[in-house]
Amino acid sequence: MNKFWETGRKIVAVGRNYAQHAKELGNEIPSEPFFFLKPTSSYLLQGTGPIEIPLESSDIHHEVELGIVIGKKGRDIDLKSAMDYVSGYTLALDMTSRDQQSIAKAKSLPWTVSKGYDTFCPISGFIPKDKIKDLNNVELWCSVDGQIKQKGNTNQMIFDVPHLIQYISSIMTLESGDLILTGTPSGVGPVKPGQVIKCGITGLDTDMQFDIILRKRN
Ligand code: MG
Repeated sequence: MNKFWETGRKIVAVGRNYAQHAKELGNEIPSEPFFFLKPTSSYLLQGTGPIEIPLESSDIHHEVELGIVIGKKGRDIDLKSAMDYVSGYTLALDMTSRDQQSIAKAKSLPWTVSKGYDTFCPISGFIPKDKIKDLNNVELWCSVDGQIKQKGNTNQMIFDVPHLIQYISSIMTLESGDLILTGTPSGVGPVKPGQVIKCGITGLDTDMQFDIILRKRN
């Protein structure tokens, strides 16, 4: 079992990689990939606990995303060999405090707070590379209390996985266990304490489910 969430050193999260999602938040379609980092302390493995809503935020959004697990170290990786650096996948949620993100955007501050809380990167576990035959045709879905909110296909990505690996590795070395979140399709929206969030990849046995609770202060 590849426990990338225990060994990986960074989570690189790509934003605005689905045109419909960029539009729903009123953002421009990017002309080159755009990304930020989430801390590995935000990992929440399926079955190990609930997603915690911070007390100071009232607008926490789900963003279902396909995660790419890096299998070996690489810098300046070219398009042709990019997939050799992939060991597998994960289903992930890039949980986002939308109200805090809006404040940060307005002040031209980084998104670290809005993206970085503990439990803000729920994951399904490791999906071996051979389980996904066609990376350009992966359907992701996400539901809240049984209602489908997001349904998208990786064929809608603006930058495909080799392009993301090429671009990110031109800036920072990718290392074994690192995770790339590839962006979310449209349909993002808020979740509240007491709700249940479920996500999956159509045709794969990777469904994950998380309860949502209000964080208790220590
Ligand atoms: Mg995202």
